[in-house]
Amino acid sequence: MIIDGKKFAQKLKNKIKKEVQSIKNKTKLTPGLAVIFVGHHTPSEIYVRKKQISAKEVGINFKVLRFKNSVTEKKLILGIQKFNKDKKIHGILVQLPLPNHINNQKIIGKIDPRKDVDGFHPINVGNLSSGKDALVPCTPLGCYLMIKSVRKNLAGLSALIIGRSNLNGKPMAQLLLKEDCTVTIGHSKTKNLKALCKKADIVVAAVGRANLVKGDWIKKGAIVIDVGINRVEKKKGYKIVGDVEFKSVVKKVRAITPVPGGVGPVTIACLLSNTLKAFKSINLLLSK
Ligand code: NAP
Repeated sequence: MIIDGKKFAQKLKNKIKKEVQSIKNKTKLTPGLAVIFVGHHTPSEIYVRKKQISAKEVGINFKVLRFKNSVTEKKLILGIQKFNKDKKIHGILVQLPLPNHINNQKIIGKIDPRKDVDGFHPINVGNLSSGKDALVPCTPLGCYLMIKSVRKNLAGLSALIIGRSNLNGKPMAQLLLKEDCTVTIGHSKTKNLKALCKKADIVVAAVGRANLVKGDWIKKGAIVIDVGINRVEKKKGYKIVGDVEFKSVVKKVRAITPVPGGVGPVTIACLLSNTLKAFKSINLLLSK
């Protein structure tokens, strides 16, 4: 089974759109998402544009606050505080990467945790790792939903997450731990990754190394989620491949996500889902 990320994301967006419409009908309120964007990083421009198109598609309001590359931390924090107070904004994200002179953690720490739709604020990180309700980073959330769509009960399965970033690997591990998987996290210093991989019922590769995971690394019937986005030069131009060597791995698996067209589109749909979740929790608090 090849998990079609575009179709998966569309289903999720259709569900969100219905709920947003029903909220609008009942309350006359509209969920709102704000993006803080610094500089002119081309891939980030593309991501923000995609987020904007998807938000519009489901009826979520979308705002971008732009700053020059030379912006100070103080100015960025003022921008975040403005959105924290704004009753029409329910989700805030700071588009990464930020310029080197800006401390990412300091900036993210200023977002109201209830509006932290990227799930990077220490409060959300802490809630997730202590098994409480949290806003969860969008990419691992999407991976989790795709795994659950293949198999509902994950209890007792062994899962290998390759990569230990705060963005992907660590939250992914927490989500699968919560599902009672036995979780191993691999990284650049891990010895014999292949042997660990061969034992895993679930493999999530979030590394950034083209075709690292080969067919002979995979246990028959495993679920394989490929988060990696790697640019490989060709004679003419380039192509995008994942961390998993799709051709050899696809023969062994129960399910796999392709690159492109797998995790990527679902990540954006999860951002909208987090915005809706934030809207609901903020308005529940307001109504108490
Ligand atoms: P990151 O912060 O660079 O982390 C990469 C992780 O991989 C690190 O933990 C690193 O280990 C580990 N690693 C590096 N080389 C390794 C090797 N040879 N064997 C085993 N582990 C190795 O990357 P990230 O932000 O998590 O992103 C990972 C990939 O996902 C990238 O390709 C990125 O573009 C992609 N991505 C995709 C989406 C999407 O929506 N599809 C979203 C975000 C990111 P150490 O900790 O020891 O250095």
